[in-house]
Amino acid sequence: TRVLLTGGSGFIAAHVLDILLEHGHSVVTTVRSQEKADKIKEAHSKYGKDKLDFVLVEDIAKEEAFDEAVKSNPPFEAVIHTASPFHFKVTDVQKELLDPAIIGTTGILKSIKKSAPTVKRVVITSSFAAVLDPFKGNNPGYEYSEKDWNGISHEQAIENPVNGYRASKTFAEKAAWDFVEQQSPNFSVAALCPPLVLGPIVHYLNSLDALNTSNQRVRDIMQGKAKEQIPETGTFLWVDVRDLALAHVKAMEVDGAANKRFFITAGYFSNKEIAAIIKKNFPEYADKCPSDSTPGGDYPKDGIYKYNNKQTREVLGIKFTSLEQSIVDTVKSLKAVGA
Ligand code: NDP
Repeated sequence: TRVLLTGGSGFIAAHVLDILLEHGHSVVTTVRSQEKADKIKEAHSKYGKDKLDFVLVEDIAKEEAFDEAVKSNPPFEAVIHTASPFHFKVTDVQKELLDPAIIGTTGILKSIKKSAPTVKRVVITSSFAAVLDPFKGNNPGYEYSEKDWNGISHEQAIENPVNGYRASKTFAEKAAWDFVEQQSPNFSVAALCPPLVLGPIVHYLNSLDALNTSNQRVRDIMQGKAKEQIPETGTFLWVDVRDLALAHVKAMEVDGAANKRFFITAGYFSNKEIAAIIKKNFPEYADKCPSDSTPGGDYPKDGIYKYNNKQTREVLGIKFTSLEQSIVDTVKSLKAVGA
């Protein structure tokens, strides 16, 4: 399949790219700079231009940003849209989070409809943030699944960056489903809703200081920041980046994924468990890690919501990596960039 992958420099997209290439697909990926294109190309030097090529899209928040990127020879048959800001260092939620997420998503769908009629499937990286109702807390006993939607309002979104990020994913995914309903395009959509994504970083793009948001808690524990007090976990569900990357490729390849959402989670984790896994497997970090009696980072006493990942297992055939394996591989990858 000829595929357009957006945001190829991202933590998750780097793994999606590897699996696409392993499965024999021909990929064009969007990046924001030539420098990033060169780094990705160098790390995949065994693939020729027919298998891996690049197009620059500097800012997905601009209307028509993807108009040229969706045109290709041979033409695209699928698009995987991962690019979206995931960080909390913003002063203007609207401009820095909501616009790139929402306009990025509607923009690429419009460009495909206008100029890429051969595209049959669009896979969108949404989030558990678009599923979970953050105002219901830990919601003990409630089972979250693909039927659930975060009900956050625009007013709540602009209150702070955490709300802003969650809303950016919610509104962007909603906009995609509205587009499908109102425009009846030639393509079907599959939306992937992962919670916290952990797992190895690719060395060619990353550094310890410019680490993707979701792996920062692992780095912080390695650096001793949980030694006296383990930070609260926040969201208690996770998935390994390689399982999620395979889910993206399967959501593109499998007919049955058409017009479905997928809640992609391996299960529960806590910061306390992450710290214990690091301590057990890496004696060189033991003195940076908290002890069994260090407070914080545990599951809530009153319980926590349940999850239903049946559709991901059955339609996409995903088997989930264990937390211990994922953390071990994450730590190794962070060591390789100097942790
Ligand atoms: P990264 O920060 O590593 O990747 C984000 C990607 O989006 C990068 O390629 C980045 O480009 C690109 N991007 C961001 N803003 C813009 C913009 N305005 N214009 C063009 N490109 C932009 O994060 P992840 O890999 O973790 O995230 C990828 C996707 O997965 C996002 O949609 C995120 O919401 C979603 N997700 C992530 C989770 C996680 O725990 N990691 C959980 C649930 C969903 P550049 O590298 O140049 O900055």
